[in-house]
Amino acid sequence: MNAPLVVGNWKMNGLQTEGLNLARQILRQINKNSDGAEVALAPPFTALPALAKALRHSRLKLVGQNCHWEASGAFTGEISAPMLDELRCEYVMLGHSERRHVFHETDDMIARKLNAVMAHGMRVILCVGETLAQRRRNKTNAVVTSQLDAALKGCVKGVIEKLEIAYEPVWAIGTGLNASPEQVSGVHENIRNYLRSGYGKPKGSAVRILYGGSVKPENAPTLAEIKEVNGLLVGGASLKAETFVPIVHAFNKK
Ligand code: PEP
Repeated sequence: MNAPLVVGNWKMNGLQTEGLNLARQILRQINKNSDGAEVALAPPFTALPALAKALRHSRLKLVGQNCHWEASGAFTGEISAPMLDELRCEYVMLGHSERRHVFHETDDMIARKLNAVMAHGMRVILCVGETLAQRRRNKTNAVVTSQLDAALKGCVKGVIEKLEIAYEPVWAIGTGLNASPEQVSGVHENIRNYLRSGYGKPKGSAVRILYGGSVKPENAPTLAEIKEVNGLLVGGASLKAETFVPIVHAFNKK
């Protein structure tokens, strides 16, 4: 297993100079404890060029928040995989719940995007997770499995080697509600079993499974203790160095 991965998802927040300042603060503070978690930032697209330049030889990696499945064409308002590759994104996040639920992205669209990202040599952080209604109907594992099936079945060969999965219960994103350690552990174990049975034990064991949903400095140490939690996807708390850096530190020791 690689080092744990902690990703800051800035969503649609921050102008270029604000993003640059925040990235520099984070870098300065995580460098004080340099071996440990891998750290990546998903800024708004407009901040990517400035961050790509400033972070070029640093340990901070860049993540695209989304991309289109075509490389170019008449898709007003979209961004493509080669464009993100040109801006030195090592990862592209796909299937985030805000994309699925606010912008109505379907499993089929996510599968096409996943192929496009892989074809351009970047890694995918595939987000999956259930709504509150689905959890109340005991459908969590079925929903997550069907999201994984839809994205990964029929995908390009070698997908497993370029994949991270983020389990993010929709009801815990940006709400302040936390999934309990038992809930997180149960879903992560289920995802691990899915990967091992579909791709074999060595490859299925090597995929990092991140957790996301109202992660804060206060709950990060508990999450770090859960066996199959191999990192985090952090939204709100990644917008300030003083809340993001302690979360990274909780995973430095893992
Ligand atoms: C996210 O954006 O993926 C997320 C988990 O947000 P928050 O940490 O704010 O819940």
